[in-house]
Amino acid sequence: MTMGASRFGLKGGNIRCWCRSSSSAGESADRASRENGEEMTRGLRSCVYCGVAFAGTGRALYCSQRCRNRVYVERHREERRAYLLQRRALHPRPPRLVLPPRACEQCGQPFTPFRADARYCSARCRYQAFLQRHHT
Ligand SMILES: [Zn+2]
Ligand SMILES: [Zn+2]
Repeated sequence: MTMGASRFGLKGGNIRCWCRSSSSAGESADRASRENGEEMTRGLRSCVYCGVAFAGTGRALYCSQRCRNRVYVERHREERRAYLLQRRALHPRPPRLVLPPRACEQCGQPFTPFRADARYCSARCRYQAFLQRHHT
């Protein structure tokens, strides 16, 4: 049994509304709830993503299509990262082929081949070799 309730509740006249109670505690609670997004009751709500206040309709959570997209992208990025981590754990990548340097068949420069069947140091040398093959 609280003394406050019996004192305030039944006097009438003085206190018209519980939520507008003149006590300072009531005021600060009101302000806190407004900052927490209670604006929704007045048609204004804050964007879940960027926090901007906007007039939403229905169950809109975001101020704009852009914010909705950002949330979508971020959520899917998380999912994709988790998926990739899981996949990497299940199927570790084969170690990269390390090939000994060899001499370019076109210019003679030593180079480190990226593929086992690489014959030229660069696309240019490959092209030069191609030209020579077809012009002799
Ligand atoms: Zn927003
Ligand atoms: Zn070369």
